[in-house]
Amino acid sequence: MATKKSIENIIAPPPPHMVGDGFRVHNFFPNSRMIDKKRMSPFFLMDYGSKIEFGPSKNVRGVGVHPHAGFETVTIAYHGRIAHHDSAGHSGVIGEGDVQWMTAGAGLLHKEYHEETFSKTGGLFQMVQLWVNLPAKSKKTPPKYQEITNAKMGHLEIEHNSGSVEVIAGEFKGVKGPAYTFTPMNVYNLKLNKGAKLSFSLPKNYNTGILVIDGTAKFNDEAAAEDHFVLFKNDGEEITVEATEDTALLVLSGEPIDEPIAAYGPFLMNHWDEVEQAIQDVNSGKFGVLED
Ligand code: MN
Repeated sequence: MATKKSIENIIAPPPPHMVGDGFRVHNFFPNSRMIDKKRMSPFFLMDYGSKIEFGPSKNVRGVGVHPHAGFETVTIAYHGRIAHHDSAGHSGVIGEGDVQWMTAGAGLLHKEYHEETFSKTGGLFQMVQLWVNLPAKSKKTPPKYQEITNAKMGHLEIEHNSGSVEVIAGEFKGVKGPAYTFTPMNVYNLKLNKGAKLSFSLPKNYNTGILVIDGTAKFNDEAAAEDHFVLFKNDGEEITVEATEDTALLVLSGEPIDEPIAAYGPFLMNHWDEVEQAIQDVNSGKFGVLED
């Protein structure tokens, strides 16, 4: 019989800060001091944009051109529409329920902002951005982009009409997600109707956490409110979720990358000389060119 994954901590959203003028985010890790920089590896960073109403704006809200190297950025839109543009020639718009999975790898420049029409009219906005670390052997992989629309995700209806699972990466009860990942991980949206109860197993050694996107739920009998992050211990496999209201959850679980971390701004390397090299590469134009 599978043993329970016990809960290490239920973390309230840290005070938010603005990223550019478009993203009001709670940084759950690595800067909240509640979760060590390797505790959720391969997930290095989680910025959560909890629900906010943006008013109409004449200028497109967002973040201007900036570099990334050594990892992947994964942007999940829950409400609102997000556009992006990068120096590798990729661009696109993700809508509600869609995911943009960008591999920065060897390095690129990009900008990310509210989709133009959404920015002009304003409206409800809610998103998550994850930084997924790359193992040392893949840090120099060429930049690429995976547009994972909701329709491309693995879909599983839970019995008795009690909810659904959207598999973005990895596998849930035999249903696979479309994301190509460099190390093993599971990323799901889990939606449960009030009163529904669901059990599932994730490997014991995988770092695992669940962000409550909507509603409230109990996790192995402990209640967590909206916008809270449930961090699990690496001591068992089974998680039972019981929805005390209609709830939407983001489940993150991955095999830790046990390598040194040298993190500075938008660079995530193993050693400081690699960070210095990346800064030089940006300055000498090796990450390409992108107009603001
Ligand atoms: Mn970025």
